Amino acid sequence: MSAARDSAVGERPAAKKTKSAKTNKSPVEKPAAAKAGAKAESRTALVRRARRINRELAEVYSYAHPELDFENPFQLLVATVLSAQTTDLRVNQTTPALFAAYPTPEDMAAADPETLEQLIRPTGFFRAKAKSLIGLSVALRDRFGGEVPGRLEDLVTLPGVGRKTANVVLGNAFGVPGVTVDTHFGRLVRRWKWTDAEDPEKVEADVCALFPKSEWTMLSHRVIFHGRRVCHSRKPACGACPIAPLCPSYGEGETDPEKAKKLLKYEMGGRPGQRLKPPADYPGLPASPLGAE
Ligand code: SF4
Repeated sequence: MSAARDSAVGERPAAKKTKSAKTNKSPVEKPAAAKAGAKAESRTALVRRARRINRELAEVYSYAHPELDFENPFQLLVATVLSAQTTDLRVNQTTPALFAAYPTPEDMAAADPETLEQLIRPTGFFRAKAKSLIGLSVALRDRFGGEVPGRLEDLVTLPGVGRKTANVVLGNAFGVPGVTVDTHFGRLVRRWKWTDAEDPEKVEADVCALFPKSEWTMLSHRVIFHGRRVCHSRKPACGACPIAPLCPSYGEGETDPEKAKKLLKYEMGGRPGQRLKPPADYPGLPASPLGAE
């Protein structure tokens, strides 16, 4: 990483004109929600705070997008199934060869299981995933005319496809609003006290109730972006977090600004993203192909 890029790491979230920056408040100032301590937050205050967090994240991650490479609903469905228990980067490095070998559900339905297993091996759990991919391709071919259905109730009947995968496909390939509860999303919304539920369906319902439908898909991307870049599982970078003043869990991670900056994994600091083919407005570097990292 160049010195110029190195110095940029960590500066972008705080430098972005978030409300905290506009009002000259330090991002590490004790948030109102935390100051209130154990005092229960009213429903109205919770909704306001949640929507402010969403607005702040929309400024910081104005280019938020799904981090799986895909060109059609079938590719997104396959990539999302492969993304279980691995990174989007690893999936994106694996799918070019997979989609070249099996461009359609009909092709994948007729795949030799062992050949397909070897192609998806880098994503882990490759035997179970190969079974799901062949199973869902057979179902698409036989029950849906070779097309990915655009309804949740149909998608969840496909092998290996749960609510999370269905919502990813609906939100990003069909424009149907949906909240995607993955590991990042669940962790962050619990830190923000938007919910205390662990069950993904309950988390989804609690979060959906705080926002208009039109926000659901982009909110999901922004929250997941923040979870990957700033609010990490083990060491959240609280001292460099642009929404610290709105977060009741401020202090769960590193609060020293300089140390916190070092924890950021941020494309504006020169880190490559997860996608080999990012959208045109993506400000960071594309990821490298498999074996070239
Ligand atoms: S990094 Fe810290 S302050 Fe920011 S959202 Fe996560 S827990 Fe809250």
